[in-house]
Amino acid sequence: MQCKKCGKECMESELKNGFCSECIEKGDIPSLKWFNFFYKIYLPIVIILNFIFVIPQVSQIIETENYNFINISYIILSIVLYIIIPFLAYLKVEKSKETGYRLILIFLMCDYICKVFFTSATTTVNYGGNIFIYIALCTLIYAIWFVPNIVYFIKRRNYFLN
Ligand SMILES: [Zn+2]
Repeated sequence: MQCKKCGKECMESELKNGFCSECIEKGDIPSLKWFNFFYKIYLPIVIILNFIFVIPQVSQIIETENYNFINISYIILSIVLYIIIPFLAYLKVEKSKETGYRLILIFLMCDYICKVFFTSATTTVNYGGNIFIYIALCTLIYAIWFVPNIVYFIKRRNYFLN
């Protein structure tokens, strides 16, 4: 086994998260505190909140038999993106860090695109105006949350990908 930072040959037991003790001591290994918070606390909150959001929506559609294409695709997207993918990521991180890591990145990028698109679309429907201006504005506003997160995860890819 090799240290992912300096490439030194080590016994597997000497490596922590794939890094040798010398590199860890030098302190130039990025920490995983935010990653751990993200998947242990943030993802479960996303799943629970969206569960609470989706159930009344689904029951309303069934009650009113209003099988509107846009409503249904919106709910399916919410279920896939905000319940199924985070749930799989949460489960996978423990077993296969690589799959969990990829799912979290996919989740962040899809969440970014969907939030920009839905906020712009609903603002256009409700207040009028040019959707492309809203898309540009939303891309900038949501970047405050998404860009540092995506950069954080991409910088730590060596922990997860072989
Ligand atoms: Zn090393």
